[in-house]
Amino acid sequence: MRKWIVRILAVLVVLAAAGIGYYQAILKNDVAAYRRRAVPALMYHSISRPAPGWPREMCVSPESFEAQMRWLKEQGYRAVTVPEARAALLAGGDVSHLVLLTFDDGYKDNYTVAFPILKKYGFRGNFYVIGKHIGKSYVEAGLKEYMDKPMLLEMHQAGMELGSHSMSHDPLAKIAPHYLPWEIYEPLNIFSRRDGGLHWFIHGIAFPNGSYNDAVLAEVRKYPKLEYGFSGIMGANTKETFERTPFELRRNGIYEQGNPTDEVAFVLRKAYVVGYLDSQGFPVRTLQAILDHLKEWRSRLSFRLG
Ligand SMILES: [Zn+2]
Repeated sequence: MRKWIVRILAVLVVLAAAGIGYYQAILKNDVAAYRRRAVPALMYHSISRPAPGWPREMCVSPESFEAQMRWLKEQGYRAVTVPEARAALLAGGDVSHLVLLTFDDGYKDNYTVAFPILKKYGFRGNFYVIGKHIGKSYVEAGLKEYMDKPMLLEMHQAGMELGSHSMSHDPLAKIAPHYLPWEIYEPLNIFSRRDGGLHWFIHGIAFPNGSYNDAVLAEVRKYPKLEYGFSGIMGANTKETFERTPFELRRNGIYEQGNPTDEVAFVLRKAYVVGYLDSQGFPVRTLQAILDHLKEWRSRLSFRLG
């Protein structure tokens, strides 16, 4: 009798293992197929070692950043601008080798450190700048220095994408509605040039803290010069993302933790898997909202304890 139970259990274990293997193979194939039509975006802030008092998650060290760029190059990735990614997606080819590198806030080290490294690897970056901080420096929990206009223009002329990160960096979903036009339109005026007519050269916005709502979306849609926007939703971007929700592009934060190339490999894998699940109707936003709340609770708790 016991022999039979052992045999039945063994058969069940083998069936379960086969089931998991089958499921994994299917998911792996599906994610690989999804990757051919999706472009992930990585989100950086400052490329520096964190100064005392700075939040750690804002900084990736120059060494880690260079190691990540070298790894991306070795993997056959090409870092492009958002308009280039959109054109490639709309053309419908295989985009599995494309990646978007995005930088928020406009720190001076983006120009002094990241820009030369990007040029070295033939990569393009996408830089989202806080309007009222251009060319400024502040001493506030350490020194914060921001890029000035000549630096930004030089990067633009070298093929980098410049975009807006609002004027004030206040979360747009929380500010008074009558400030929205200033937050959203004024950066376009900063990045304009009079050479035989007014020439605007920014087309994108990254919402500060990924914060937006219907009123913000309605405001950005009023202005045809703005063509795309980054949300804080994780995942990757497909033709459908650009066509249906161009102001809710997906992004994934890169942080200084553990081995830098493992980190970038992990974040890319996560972007493809989450993007695939998103494309299948899986409630990624709900899941992310829960995770964000957990993170907030954890930080509040550690603040109280600490
Ligand atoms: Zn920011």
